[in-house]
Amino acid sequence: MEKNLNFIDHEYIYSLIEKSKNVTEDDINKILDKAQAKKGLTHGEVAALFEIKKPNQRKRLFEIAHMLKESIYGNRIVVFAPLYVSNYCVNNCVYCGYKICNKFERKKLTREEIQNEVKLLEKMGHKRLALEAGEDPINCDINYILDAIDAVYSTKFENGAIRRINVNIAATTLENYKKLKAAEIGTYILFQETYHKPTYESMHPHCLKGNYEYHLTAFDRAMEGGIDDVGGGVLFGLADPKFEVISLMLHNEHLEKTHGVGFHTISVPRLKQAEGMSLEQFPHLVDDDLFKNIVAIIRLAVPFTGLILSTRETPEMRREVIKYGVSQVSAGSSTDVGGYTDRALGKSAPDQFELADHRTPLEILKSLLDEDYVPSYCTACYRQGRTGDRFMELAKSGNIQNVCGPNALMTLMEYAMDYGDKELLEKVEEVIAREIIKIKRDDIKELTKNNIKRIKNGERDLY
Ligand code: SAM
Repeated sequence: MEKNLNFIDHEYIYSLIEKSKNVTEDDINKILDKAQAKKGLTHGEVAALFEIKKPNQRKRLFEIAHMLKESIYGNRIVVFAPLYVSNYCVNNCVYCGYKICNKFERKKLTREEIQNEVKLLEKMGHKRLALEAGEDPINCDINYILDAIDAVYSTKFENGAIRRINVNIAATTLENYKKLKAAEIGTYILFQETYHKPTYESMHPHCLKGNYEYHLTAFDRAMEGGIDDVGGGVLFGLADPKFEVISLMLHNEHLEKTHGVGFHTISVPRLKQAEGMSLEQFPHLVDDDLFKNIVAIIRLAVPFTGLILSTRETPEMRREVIKYGVSQVSAGSSTDVGGYTDRALGKSAPDQFELADHRTPLEILKSLLDEDYVPSYCTACYRQGRTGDRFMELAKSGNIQNVCGPNALMTLMEYAMDYGDKELLEKVEEVIAREIIKIKRDDIKELTKNNIKRIKNGERDLY
């Protein structure tokens, strides 16, 4: 495959940023009109939206983001948790608590420890995990990761099993991506951290991760290896956020052009305090107002791509930006290896970075339900082979509502039956009664009602 390594052309991006400073109010209105028609935006249009200054246009940006989210995703929010299996790391990422120069006793979980973590995650109701690890070709090689995936999938419970594992491990080889594909991972997630090459190099000094081109082309190798759902992201705070979002869009356009499908998801992590660094070192921290704009602009630009928000953000910020397009949230997370077991034992260990939302999944679910969202643990698309361009076709055709809506209600009832309390069950009954009548096709409405009855009678995993 011919690789276009130049899809993040820095000179071009700088010139686009300069040019976008001259956009008029009228230009911005036209771009907003296009976004409102669910047509998505080009990277050039994204650059222009960063120039919104007028409060009425900012208001319109948020209104459109909200409308797109409602009409494409409905009020569903997918819930997941990270699982850190190893903090061995050969890298020296300036921003990360797991960097090699931070001295603490490193660990990787044994199969039994992984299964213990998974049991605790399952007790919280999780069905989808994101497997996370530091980069260490000796202590945490691909075979360790494959064994970890197998350990997770083969942990069985009374109420089923973990149904989808997304994987967030360092950029790797084509051969290793083929192995991850064969291990039936969900999405392969990799944050570019920063698309700005000089910043990338200064943030990853003297380390394996320091090779900008190798990191940037990881998704090309992953897709060549058969993984058709890839999840991108930027660690906001390292470089100019406008440069980063334009680059994210260029990366998405590159994947669409080369592989026929762009990002399945985009994550929007903001830099948090971590051991061995101080936030003052970073001149590009993103404040709350800008962060909200970024989420809304991404939603307008790629309306059919999932947007992921983690517990790095406070409950208040999560509540707000969910409105502007977030479709997946983590809940009850720990970023420490063995963290769920430690938590159960009242112990603490080194975290990769600080978190800001410490609520339990049950608390998060109640709060989502109070705001009229439908928390979803659905994993059906992936297990039915609706990945890559097949998922995108489903999303673009509007049929996602006929499939994901009912599945969300079924997994929500499962959650309420298996992990909820009386208060939650009452809320869930109310929400299901309200949502089920919105299902347009009569046959699907009947099927959903029937499946919910079966779930109440003890059956599981219906979709
Ligand atoms: N080792 C893999 C890699 O190199 O991509 C996995 C990365 S790590 C487990 C997951 C992500 O945490 C990183 O990609 C980075 O964006 C994020 N992260 C690291 N330090 C952070 C910090 N101080 N604040 C917020 N996020 C951070």
